[in-house]
Amino acid sequence: MLSSDREAAMKDLVERVKKCTKCKLHVGRRNPVVGRGSLYSKVMFIGEAPGYHEDVQGLPFVGAAGKLLSQLLASVGINEQEVYITNVVKCRPPENRDPEPDEIEACTPYLDEQIKIISPAIIVTLGRHSANYIFSKAGWNFSSIEKIRGKVRIGKILGLNIIVIPTYHPAAALYNPALKAKLEQDLRMVKEELIKPRLF
Ligand code: URA
Ligand code: SF4
Repeated sequence: MLSSDREAAMKDLVERVKKCTKCKLHVGRRNPVVGRGSLYSKVMFIGEAPGYHEDVQGLPFVGAAGKLLSQLLASVGINEQEVYITNVVKCRPPENRDPEPDEIEACTPYLDEQIKIISPAIIVTLGRHSANYIFSKAGWNFSSIEKIRGKVRIGKILGLNIIVIPTYHPAAALYNPALKAKLEQDLRMVKEELIKPRLF
């Protein structure tokens, strides 16, 4: 997609999400959280749903989990300004509960649009909901994060060849040093893939 087209397509999407009432999560939101980062990123990180701070600021991963993600990206040498970060659902679930299947179904057409606009070489799924969604798009069986994490797979997602690297959600790693170490290891794998020359 041409650069001006990418910007126009994302702007149009943001306007539609701001007005969206397709699921019950619109009721309690302060701000929908579409995404942040570069529309030209080679890598797209997909989390679960906005939390308190994300809802207040309208930006993904700006609370405690986001701080950890930023810290780990820096430690593996990935420039946060050069990545794109979003979530499976764009409005905050009450009390930070898990997004429900009807909400995921209503909201993921927006995520699909984001994937098509950015056309990333790599998708990194953060946590179960994100992995589950991307695995279903690729036609893969999702078992558990423990079983699938830390491996590089190439899938056909929305007609695009995309490398998928699933890992833990940073919120799960906040108070668990063992998970934090594995998350960092997986992000190192992302960095290695990013610096390889690619045909697509
Ligand atoms: N957790 C998520 O999954 N997404 C955010 O944006 C923040 C916390
Ligand atoms: Fe619309 Fe998604 Fe927000 Fe639901 S979560 S109201 S589908 S933008």
